[in-house]
Amino acid sequence: MLKRLIVAIDGPAGSGKSTSAKLIAKKLGFLYIDTGAMYRAITYLAIENNVLQNNDAIIQLAKNAGLDLEFNNGETHVYTNGKEITDKIRTREVNSKVSDISKIEGVRKALVDRQRELAEKNNGIVMEGRDIGTVVFPNADVKIFLTASIDERASRRTKEYEEKGVHISLEEIKSNIEQRDKIDSTRDVSPLVKALDAIEVDTSNISIQEQVDIILRVIQQKVNKK
Ligand code: C5P
Repeated sequence: MLKRLIVAIDGPAGSGKSTSAKLIAKKLGFLYIDTGAMYRAITYLAIENNVLQNNDAIIQLAKNAGLDLEFNNGETHVYTNGKEITDKIRTREVNSKVSDISKIEGVRKALVDRQRELAEKNNGIVMEGRDIGTVVFPNADVKIFLTASIDERASRRTKEYEEKGVHISLEEIKSNIEQRDKIDSTRDVSPLVKALDAIEVDTSNISIQEQVDIILRVIQQKVNKK
């Protein structure tokens, strides 16, 4: 058995990263880390502190945010210096600003450091985001890149919001996802791209169970090889 196993799952919004990453972490008893929640937390703090136009102040927030993630009952709970902000990071306003905040190099550096630190705590990690296999853990044991059609992704996201009692139209969600995809994949620092050695899985027409089974098979093959 490997001493430490890191599974990196990247891809655009709504491609199935969170759903499959959570199930895989649960099945293997691994630590699950949602890095998008961290970029959302800094965006929320920038809005709260009224510094959206001040990159230096945002970088300071990212360095001093004292971010902690706790995963229980199927949800990532997010804390900044001990204060819970879980419900505040998935608002319309955060959705519309997060990709611009994520472009800032100093913010990424602070969060990547924190992501590596959080992962230290465990021997088995499933981390999801946009740059996990390319930047955060370029030597990850398993790299998966999930994709799905824009219509499928928008419809999944709309359903997730509905289940939480948040009503946002399909059109608004689709346009937010398209806008974030564009900013995330064209930014200078750590853009959203598939790592050369990642395995790409199109989840448009497969069930969650099928996604999970595919990824588990890749992990198993890796473990067998070592
Ligand atoms: O995963 P989620 O959709 O919650 O991520 C929100 C935003 O955070 C993304 O659109 C992207 O701008 C940013 N992000 C990032 N790098 C990561 C994870 C998220 O830039 N590793």
